[in-house]
Order: sequence, then structure tokens, then C-alpha cells
Amino acid sequence: MSSRTVPTRQRLSQVRYEIRGELARRARDLEATGRTLIKLNIGNPGAFGFRAPEHLQAAIAEHIAESDPYCHQQGLPQVREAIAAQQVQRGARSVTAAHVFLGNGVSELIDLSLRALLNPGDEVLLPSPDYPLWSAATILNDGVPVYYDCRPEHGFQPDPEQIEALISPRTRAIVLINPNNPSGAVYSRATLEAIVRVAERHRILLMSDEIYDAITYDDAVYVPLAPLAGDLPCLTFSGLSKVHRACGYRVGWAVLSGDPIRSGDYHHALDLLGALRLCANVPGQWAALAALTGPDTIGALTAPGGRLFEARRAVIEACNASGRLSLHAPMGALYAFPGIDTTGLQDFDDHRFALDLLDNEGVLVVPGSSFNVGYRNHFRVTLLPQPDEIRDVFGRIEHALARWETR
Ligand code: PLP
Repeated sequence: MSSRTVPTRQRLSQVRYEIRGELARRARDLEATGRTLIKLNIGNPGAFGFRAPEHLQAAIAEHIAESDPYCHQQGLPQVREAIAAQQVQRGARSVTAAHVFLGNGVSELIDLSLRALLNPGDEVLLPSPDYPLWSAATILNDGVPVYYDCRPEHGFQPDPEQIEALISPRTRAIVLINPNNPSGAVYSRATLEAIVRVAERHRILLMSDEIYDAITYDDAVYVPLAPLAGDLPCLTFSGLSKVHRACGYRVGWAVLSGDPIRSGDYHHALDLLGALRLCANVPGQWAALAALTGPDTIGALTAPGGRLFEARRAVIEACNASGRLSLHAPMGALYAFPGIDTTGLQDFDDHRFALDLLDNEGVLVVPGSSFNVGYRNHFRVTLLPQPDEIRDVFGRIEHALARWETR
């Protein structure tokens, strides 16, 4: 018998997804020994007691008997019509049901859309910090991530001039995540317009991950990118996981707007890759139709008194009261990304800190460097726990920081 082990793809050694990585595995091992932990690593509303709205649940039950066959590779026509109608209503140009692609979550569509685009060595402009699937999918589809900075000292906002300076003959796409995971930044119309002008000058595809589109706080305004892009090809992503609290339904969509002649080949490539994986989860697509045509259910959670709003308030207050923590208040999405003043803290690094927090305080967070940033003094928490639990967590974080001071 050969002693050779099963080989794996070499590029995987460059890929990290620490949200469910080493620390999460360690947390599971600790739980197996009977420890109770507070896990703030995943933006998974269902794990924190949120339920998908009843009209989504009812839609699946109602249509389950019709859901046996595969559907069209791009998705059920009725669902694509509803998604196209939403995009047209927002002002996206040249969008019909034919330009909508349903997937098993936005995750699948991120991978598929980069696979349809990239040849070896092609570059993709990604935000730093990013949602790390974007980096992983770029690398695994033979591309090269090139990061533009959204630095804490600039409120995690992108700089269109830097984006333009990073463009090379190999640049194939500019990716935006707005509202942003992990920083919670929401981009202004002026910034988005400037980025569109850059993309137009260099004729580069825009990809806009807007999975948190309806999750904003205070006076923040979500501005969809596609209407600003006009005739410029733009692929916009959204889905059921966050705004509709239905992560497990695995439904996302991508909408290709702009001049269909400029993106005709790309449209065919997306359609072919969609066909190779047959179709997206059909029962979940019926829930998407209900979500798009039914009442708003997120506004009450993000308004004052709402659970997400109050959780966010608890994080802001805890950071304001801290001698070490600083925070750009998240204006959207489901996360906070505090920074730590590490002055005088021996051997501090975000990963070691997260490990210490897990082992000694029973709290699981994601180290900031997991989001492809160069600095190592941030961490991400979700805003999904009850406000009291958040206050408890930040008490434990202060203990850990105090302990670090005497190391
Ligand atoms: N994009 C961003 C920015 C996310 O934060 C997530 C999940 O956390 C996804 C995409 C993937 O979502 P889905 O559940 O639709 O695959």
C-alpha cells in the first residue's frame, strides 16, 4: 500500500477563514469539556434566537409541493422578476429577470462570479478590512487580491484616489462591501460616485456586496451602487441571510446591471457556471419571493428600542467607558470592530488576545487580522446577542485587558 497522503490544492495554503477557524474549533473543544461560552464570531441571527419572518416560513410550506424539480439555473422566474423589479425601482439600468442569478447564499455567487471573470494572475481590488470569503474566492479562482485601505483613522471609508492608483492592466474588478462587514461603515453617495468614475475611466467591472442593504442605524443612508453605475456593468449581491434573518435557507442573488452589450460574454459565463451546478435551493427561493413582496421586518430591530439598535448602543457605551477601546460606531450591518490601545501591553497581538479571551473569559471574538488588515489591534463582535449579554462580554474584555497590563 502506498504511504502517500491525499493531496490538496496548493493555493489553499494562502486561504484563511478564521470566523470558523482555529479559535472556533478550540471553542468547540472547550464546550465538549462542559465550558459555557459566549460566541460572537458568526453573524448568524438564528443562533441568537432570531427567527425568519413568518411570511417566509409560510411561503416555504405553501410551495413545498412545487419545489421537487430543479428550476432554471438562474432561479425561479417569478423570484427573478421580483428581484429585478426591486433593482429597477432603485434605479438600476437595463435590469430584467434575465439579469438575475439566484444562488445558494451570496457565498456561492461570490465564488461563481469570480470564477466566471478571472484568468490566472488577474487582480481584484478588495477592501481592507474585507469579508474574507472575497479574498479566498479570488485566490482559489487563480486571482490576486489587491487591497485598498479603509483605515480606522478614516472611519473605515475607502479612498477613490487610492483605488485608482492601484489599478493595473490586470485589474478585473473593484469590489465594495457596503454596508461593510466587519467595520459597519456605510459609504456616502459622493464616495460611491467617485469610485464609479474610476471604474468608468478604466472600464472595470464593479462588484457590490450589499447583503446588509437594509441594516443601517441612526441617520445612515444606504446608497445602492448600481443606479450610480448607470451603463457601467455592475454586479450587486444580496440575499435572505441577514436582512431577513434566514441564513439557513441558503438564498442569495446577484444582479448584473448596466449595458448588456458590454457584459454579454460575462452574462453567458455566469449562466454556464450556474447551469453546471444545476440550480439554487428551490424552497428557499419561494421565501425570497415572500421577502421581496412582503412587509419590512428589519426596521423595527434597527430603530431605537429595537434589539439590534440597543445591542449596538451597548457596544458603543462599553467602548466609550473603556480606557483602552476605541470604536467607530457601526452605521450598518451586524458587527462592531473595536480597536485596542496597546500602549504598554507586552507582546500584544490580536490573535493572542482573542485566545486569552476565549480560554480565560469564555468569550469568542474574531481577531481583526482575519479580515486582511495589516494592523493587529482590532477584533470583531456581532451585534446579535441581547444588550445585557453584550455588557457582560465587554466586562470580560476589560478583565482580559487589565490582566494583560500586569503580564
Ligand atoms: N457577504 C458578506 C459581506 C457577508 O457578511 C456574508 C456572511 O456573513 C456573506 C456575503 C455570505 O452570506 P450568505 O449567507 O448569503 O452566503
